[in-house]
Amino acid sequence: MFTCAACGRRATACPDCVNMMAVDPETGLPPDVAIVDGTATTIEPTPEARERSKTHPLCDACVTAAIVAGKTDMMTAEQRHRLRHL
Ligand SMILES: [Zn+2]
Ligand SMILES: [Zn+2]
Repeated sequence: MFTCAACGRRATACPDCVNMMAVDPETGLPPDVAIVDGTATTIEPTPEARERSKTHPLCDACVTAAIVAGKTDMMTAEQRHRLRHL
């Protein structure tokens, strides 16, 4: 069991296969994302943000939503699991 970094829901996934996202604890966002005028914008992460960021697991619901929105080339943990453990 883990807590999803994006939605905070408890989820389960194979630890080898779960998608991870870097989160800057100061902003609660990935180090390369900033909110500019209310919109999430991709920025060049500062070395400090990179340094203090920790990777957190993402649940498949969030990954699937990102895939559907065309925001990521990640695979769902289910797909990764099938590829990795053949
Ligand atoms: Zn989630
Ligand atoms: Zn697996």
